[in-house]
Parts: sequence; structure tokens; C-alpha cells
Amino acid sequence: MSESGALVGIDLGTTQSVIAHLDANGVATTIPNADGDPLTASAIYLDGDNAIVGKAAKQAAAHHPDKVATFIKRYVGEGQYYRSVDGRVFRPETLSAIVLKKLKQDAEKRIGPISKAVITVPAFFDDTRRKATEDAGRIAGLDVLDIINEPTAAAIAYCLEGRLNSDSPAAVPDLQKGSPTVVVYDLGGGTFDVTVVQLSEKQFETIATDGEVQLGGKDWDDVIVDHLAAQFEEQHGFNPADDEINGPAWRESVANLAESTKKLLSQLPDAPLECFFQDKAVRSTMSRDELESLSRELVTRTQVVTGLVVRDQAGLAWKDIDRVLLVGGSTRMPMVRRMLEQVASKPPDDSLDPDQVVARGAAIYAAIRASQDADSEMLIDRHLASQLADVVIEDVNSHSLGVQTYDRQADKAKNSVLIPKNTALPNAASRVYHLNKAGRTHIRVRVLEGEAPEAEANITIGECRITDLSPNLPIGSPIQVRLSYGANGRVNVMALDMTGGGLAQVEIDRRAGLSDGHIRREAEWLASINVQ
Ligand code: AMP
Repeated sequence: MSESGALVGIDLGTTQSVIAHLDANGVATTIPNADGDPLTASAIYLDGDNAIVGKAAKQAAAHHPDKVATFIKRYVGEGQYYRSVDGRVFRPETLSAIVLKKLKQDAEKRIGPISKAVITVPAFFDDTRRKATEDAGRIAGLDVLDIINEPTAAAIAYCLEGRLNSDSPAAVPDLQKGSPTVVVYDLGGGTFDVTVVQLSEKQFETIATDGEVQLGGKDWDDVIVDHLAAQFEEQHGFNPADDEINGPAWRESVANLAESTKKLLSQLPDAPLECFFQDKAVRSTMSRDELESLSRELVTRTQVVTGLVVRDQAGLAWKDIDRVLLVGGSTRMPMVRRMLEQVASKPPDDSLDPDQVVARGAAIYAAIRASQDADSEMLIDRHLASQLADVVIEDVNSHSLGVQTYDRQADKAKNSVLIPKNTALPNAASRVYHLNKAGRTHIRVRVLEGEAPEAEANITIGECRITDLSPNLPIGSPIQVRLSYGANGRVNVMALDMTGGGLAQVEIDRRAGLSDGHIRREAEWLASINVQ
């Protein structure tokens, strides 16, 4: 590794985060935090100028709910979301940045200064969420080389770890032969996605991807918390979660216990479950069967999405799938593995640690990017750079792009999709629309992101106006609209008055997030506090 600093990959997770790097021997390694743990809980305890990130912060949530922030990733990119922690109001970007700073700081103690980072996001994150993640990295003082999809990172780790590792090439599964089609099933702490990737020698081609932003291990924890609350009510006549003052703290403390019980049940047939509220207690046991029956609906939701992605979006049958790769801590649950084995008719592959595989893949991707970029090339070993320089990664858009049209009969604004989701990037499409009123002097083309047929159920990402239409245009006059979607996540929209030749063209910066000034202010604040 050069003196200019290390390249790292970071899996910024809903419940836990991981940082990894690729050493000069081509070994992708997770870098433990200051406690020696490869996983750092994405939880923050804030007290004045001191921030504690990790397990201790997570445990403090029950006693100091107003000083602790958890599950930040669920809100990243939501423009209107603010959270008050220890009396300061935060955007999710800054809270994520505190976690990133902790990872960077601890890793630098072990591997020296870090120069650039790749951060991972769920495949179906829209560009607002991607930009927000990038902003979080900048606030944390990281030079963000790129943002990469978590399933792509996992596929890279599965495919390339063995090939690059000159220490022990046989230590990881041999996925690099032939051109296998794999399904990456990623069930983390708070998000779920499933992606079909076609691998060939040096090419990673995503064919289809989908998921849910709010489905993960936390929902299994909630099932256990609700079960305990119901038991409490049965035995003592009231539900502690309903207590206005102490209910939230009770939920937090029981959530930690619920998570431990859930993890135990991945290995044992039953586990103890107890909780206290004021001077009352509930002591019981929970069996794995009980948890599975209470949470069946959750695993079924993942099964439905998985089937949709493989069959309808990728157009494949399960017999075409060579492997199902497990990613995310929640895939340790036996009910998840059983479901996948049933639908795929083969056991899923868990040969790489599901908690660490994404960060390790991101570290390899950072090296791929650096090997293809003259400014960063010197950051990696020359031999590695030559192996990685021709790796190609192709992605798809995870959300459809369309324009708003007006359906006279239904008297409703509709979404006319031009670039359907799962189209390879970059891409472009155009369509001719017809004016629905005579004598218009201007038109406005509103660009929508999403699949819903009703315009209002989608996100408006920008608009383009032609203000000088030819005079006296009759009803039905043609207007051509073209949308193009670059690999850099930017959308170009062009509208052409085909009668008079009037043209309007706008580049929509879909990735507009925090302003540079806002990022700078938050970065200054973060640099001024003590993170441990
Ligand atoms: P990730 O964000 O991918 O690291 O996933 C973390 C999630 O995995 C959390 O919800 C954990 O509770 C869950 N998890 C970790 N280990 C286990 C396990 N042995 N059994 C069930 N869930 C687990």
C-alpha cells in the first residue's frame, strides 16, 4: 500500500456497520473496531461534546432514549426527517457521519491514514438516498470514491476474493468458473433486497433488483416485543408499551433482549424471555417454532419479492439460478434458509460471513475503482491493479422513470413510464405525446420516479418547460419527450415541439441533497466533538 493512505470499503448498516480493506497480498480483511469487534453497532449516544458509537450506545437506549439514535439508515435521504438527540436537531446524514467517523478513526489506528472510501447502499436506494449517504461520508471527512450496491459488493467478494488472495486462494468458494447466475438474498437489520447477478470472468452484470426499505431483523425483534407486551397484559392487566412516560424506554430495553432471544433461537430450540415493568415481571420461554409462527408473514414477504425478481423481472426460472448467496445477519435464521432451500431446490451458500461479505466486497471494489482511475492508481499494489483494471460492473436503475400525463376520461394525472426499472445503465428512451388542449402557449414536462400508475403516488424529481410553443397549435399536436439516464445517476430531459421546432432541455440533478455549506457546517461540528 502506498504512503498516500489506505482505500477502504464500508458497509453502513441499519443495525451494524463494518469497514474493510484489501491488503497488498490481495486479502480482503475486516478491520476490527477499538474493542476488537469486526462489527460496530450503528447506534450513537450523544452527551454534549462526546459521542459514543457502538454496543454501549445501543444498550444506553433504554435508560437515555433522548440521547441515543438508532436505525438511522431507515431515514437517510428523507428530506423532512429531523431527529433531536441530546437537544440538538440532526438530519440523518450527520448521524450516519458520526458512525462513519468512528469506523474511520478506529480503522486508522490499525492501518494508518485512510485516503478514500467506497460506501455501500441497498440496491433499491434511490439517488436521493445515495447522495445522502455520500454526504454523510463527506461530513465524516471521507473522500468518497463511489457508492456501490450491497448485493454487487457481495457478488464481487464471492467471485474475486479467491482469485485475488495470493496467501490462500482456496479459502473461499470458487465462483469464478463459467458464467454463473446468482441470486443475492440480503436481509439485514432494517432493509431487505434481492438481486440477480450474472457473473462471468471479469464482469458483474446486475439483471434485476428489488426490495423493501423497511424490512429486516428489527421487525423480528418487534414481533418478540409485541408478544411479550401481550403476555404482560394477560398476566397483569395492562400493556407497558402503552405507558406514556415509561413505555418507550420499556420497548427499547425489551428490544435488546428480544434481539438476543432471536439470535439464540437461530441455534437453540427454545430460549428464555423475561421482562420487568415497575414492580411486575413476566418470565417465560419462547420456542423457535413459536417465533417462526409469529413471524411467518415477514419471511413470506421476502419470498414474494424473491419470486418476483427471479421470475418476472429477470425472466428466469429457479433451475437457471446456480447459487443463492446469503448476505446480512438475519439470514442466519433457520426459517429464512429453509424457505430459500424450498424455492431454489438447493441449499443457499453461506461460505462467506454474511455480516462481513459486503464490506469486503466494497474494499475490493475500491481497489477496482482505483486501478481504473489515474488519480488513485498509486493507492494500490501494482500487481493487484493489473488484475483489476479490466473488471466491468454493470448496474440497472432500481426505479422507473416516466413523465406525468393527464387522463381525461379518468380525470387523473398518470405516470407514463419511459425507462422501466431494471434497465441497464446508461440508457435513454423517447415517446411522442399529444397536446390535450388547443392554443397552448407553453408546456411543462414533469419527470416522475416510481412505478405507480397514478402520478401523485410517485416522486417528482424535476421538470422541463417549453415556453415558446408555436402559436395556435391544434389539439393533438405532437410533442416528443426524451429521457436519458446516465451511469452517474443524472437524468436529462428534452421536450421538442414537433410542429414549430421549439426545444427545451434540462439536466436534472437528481442527486441534490445537502448544500456544500450545510455539509461544511456539519463537518466542522463533527470535527469539534469527541467520538469514541
Ligand atoms: P446486518 O445489518 O446485515 O449486519 O444485520 C444485522 C441483523 O442481523 C440484526 O437485526 C441482527 O439481529 C441480525 N442477526 C445477527 N445474527 C443473527 C442470528 N444469529 N440470528 C438471527 N438474526 C441475527
